[in-house]
Amino acid sequence: MTNHVHNTLAIICKHITEGKKPILHVSHEKDGIWSFYCNESDHDQNNVDAACLNCIFENEPSVAELKNLEAGYDAMRILQEMDIWDIQKIQETH
Ligand SMILES: [Zn+2]
Ligand SMILES: [Zn+2]
Repeated sequence: MTNHVHNTLAIICKHITEGKKPILHVSHEKDGIWSFYCNESDHDQNNVDAACLNCIFENEPSVAELKNLEAGYDAMRILQEMDIWDIQKIQETH
């Protein structure tokens, strides 16, 4: 069983949590918030959930290698079938 501290620092889309989609886009915002999205484009407050970051990393081995992703960076999975990630600095939007 898991013995980590549960936290709610992550945002994850329901397409993933409902088991339909793989995680294809992970971002670690400068403010420390992590988000995990699939390749759907219609992400809004109706289809995202807050989740425990540690649980995501435990339950989703495909993203394990992103655990040390620095704040201010995001990662896109290059191919859905492979755990190869293209890591880019998040562009400032102002
Ligand atoms: Zn947890
Ligand atoms: Zn999604």
